[in-house]
Amino acid sequence: MNIARMRQSARLLHLPVPETEAFQAALIELVRRAADIIPDAPASLYLRPTLIGTDPVIGKAATPSANALLYILASPVGDYFKTGAPMKLLVETEHARCAPHMGRIKCGGNYASALAWVLKAKEEHGANQVLFCPNGDVQETAASNFALINGNEIITKPLTSEFLHGVTRDSVLTIANDLGYTISERNFTVAELKAAVEQGAEAILTGTAAVISPVTSFVIDGKEIPVASTERGTAIRKAVTDIQFGLAEDKYDWLVRV
Ligand SMILES: *Cc1c(COP(=O)(O)O)cnc(C)c1O
Repeated sequence: MNIARMRQSARLLHLPVPETEAFQAALIELVRRAADIIPDAPASLYLRPTLIGTDPVIGKAATPSANALLYILASPVGDYFKTGAPMKLLVETEHARCAPHMGRIKCGGNYASALAWVLKAKEEHGANQVLFCPNGDVQETAASNFALINGNEIITKPLTSEFLHGVTRDSVLTIANDLGYTISERNFTVAELKAAVEQGAEAILTGTAAVISPVTSFVIDGKEIPVASTERGTAIRKAVTDIQFGLAEDKYDWLVRV
């Protein structure tokens, strides 16, 4: 799924599209060669494939690059998940993370586009991240997807072009469905989010690095609203990492043997 997403991003950026088999073979070969520096779980080897256009031409505003370089950064990293860590989200209704037609593309410019609001949220509210909700439409943060866990229902935005289609989002919804949750992929507003959280709903962020980060509070219209519990999100996270660490059966065939 990660390779398919990078191919889609390349297509949407009008870059040459990496060939699936060669790309996967390069990833596996890199992991084999890095075997000695892969730390024990829950630390990991972070893989970040990067694609850049390389045509030696100045006038690229109207002509896509016919050539590109695909390289893969690999780095040992510690556990991104910190038990009990605060995750305070500033709910931002005025600004979008990036241009709406670029939302599902994983590209560096989108992070830069969001950075001003993230830094402002940190400075003015002590927030850890920004939840982008342009015109009240709940979307995602600068680098992770968002879902509301309201009782037995998990609510998250359907796959539109405005936001990044996370592989972890997909894994979490698959596992949560098997755990008996009702999955509702539908648009929802800040007003609905606020009412649900005030009545005890949980909220989570999903992304490859931390898998699931439970949200601990929201800042909405300058007022901090605490989230009552992080229990469900933490349990779903364990169901995912148990598969990653080989502690539970991989019945979805997600693991790649190297
Ligand atoms: C990478 C990313 C995610 C999470 O995607 P995963 O495939 O789950 O790692 C979500 N939102 C944004 C903006 C991202 O860049």
